Amino acid sequence: MTELFPDYRPAWETENHRLIREHAREFFTREATPHQERWAEQHCVDRDFWNKTGAAGLLAPEVEEQYGGAGGDFGYEAAVFHELNKAGDTAFGYSIHSSISVHYLSTYGTEEQKRRWLPGTVSGDLVVAIAMTEPETGSDLQAIRTTAIRDGNHYVVNGNKTFISNGTHCDLVIIVAKTDPAARGKGISLIVAETKDLPGFQRGRVLAKIGQHGQDTRELSFTDMRVPVENLLGGEEGKGFGQLMDQLPRERLLIGISGLAMAEAAVLETIAYVKERRAFGAPILNFQNTKFELAECKADVLAGRALVDYGIGRCLDGTLDASTGSIIKLWGSDKQCEIIDRCLQLFGGYGYMMEYPIAQKYAAARVQKIYGGTNEIMKELIARTL
Ligand SMILES: Cc1cc2nc3c(=O)[nH]c(=O)nc-3n(C[C@H](O)[C@H](O)[C@H](O)COP(=O)(O)OP(=O)(O)OC[C@H]3O[C@@H](n4cnc5c(N)ncnc54)[C@H](O)[C@@H]3O)c2cc1C
Repeated sequence: MTELFPDYRPAWETENHRLIREHAREFFTREATPHQERWAEQHCVDRDFWNKTGAAGLLAPEVEEQYGGAGGDFGYEAAVFHELNKAGDTAFGYSIHSSISVHYLSTYGTEEQKRRWLPGTVSGDLVVAIAMTEPETGSDLQAIRTTAIRDGNHYVVNGNKTFISNGTHCDLVIIVAKTDPAARGKGISLIVAETKDLPGFQRGRVLAKIGQHGQDTRELSFTDMRVPVENLLGGEEGKGFGQLMDQLPRERLLIGISGLAMAEAAVLETIAYVKERRAFGAPILNFQNTKFELAECKADVLAGRALVDYGIGRCLDGTLDASTGSIIKLWGSDKQCEIIDRCLQLFGGYGYMMEYPIAQKYAAARVQKIYGGTNEIMKELIARTL
């Protein structure tokens, strides 16, 4: 069984969305699933996997045709990201690059910036990271200390960032920095650093995590790093905080999409396992407890897909608001952790062994409640609308 709900069709899905979904499924099952263990050991995907994904037409499919993209809508991103997670990948920093960072470049970039950067982000020649979090501040984004002070035709950037996904491979980093250090949110700007041979740019250690071992999550530091003023995203200072707030609901929806996709994959692999594994002379599936556990998990996955598809519809029609994005992230990540935990239990001791994909999913899931804004912050945002 490769589908939990073979007849399920999201209301927003067009024929083109279906085609890219099927293409992505075939591509990631062939090119990503078999490499998980190796990627985990080397703490990053192979660099050329970015170009392979680009050549397959799956990177940044929303980028307009004039900049080398497919000119698709958010449904393309959603379909590709869903399939990446269904394929059991826990290594590829796809959404940080394609769905999030590239979207900043195409939404806020000047014409010149878009011409310069977007084609490379589609081909995989340019991998993008976004650096908001600092050692002393994550949730309280307005308190960041990284500064970008204008000096002639450059910004001089100083500061430290941590937990940065795509930290090893990034060719471009969207740095959240204060161009006016005396102000809070109003002093924040997004500065795009081109990292190749950039004096003052340093990649710190690769961080050892409890899961997602194949992701290159790193510290980055900037010491008197000179970035040309043309690299201020959108060309106007002080707009960064607003840009981040406008885009975070979309990022949170993506966490919900990946969470439910991975939970669905977990249920599928558990069904296969309990049909094979025997105890007391019969398959584990025969126990009523096993059936009831998986029945509840299956029901939750369907409920989750409906919620996520509601969010995708809202994103497509431009009405996804902060509270709805937060609800989907909160519920989707909580359910992901719960479903995968229940599935893991049915594997017995094998569920605790990292060579089993269910264990990798369990370890990978935990962070979904933390990044993209913690689930406590999600509740704060939802509560503002009560
Ligand atoms: C694997 C991984 C990848 C990441 N990738 C990136 C990336 O690519 N780019 C990037 O910029 N960041 C990234 N992050 C950082 C992530 O977004 C932050 O860790 C997250 O926003 C939380 O910030 P913090 O870790 O500083 O926690 P803190 O803000 O210190 O929070 C600690 C605790 O306090 C709680 N808390 C804080 N404020 C409140 C409040 N007002 N009300 C109630 N509770 C509160 C939090 O919910 C949490 O439980 C990544 C993190 C991880 C672990």
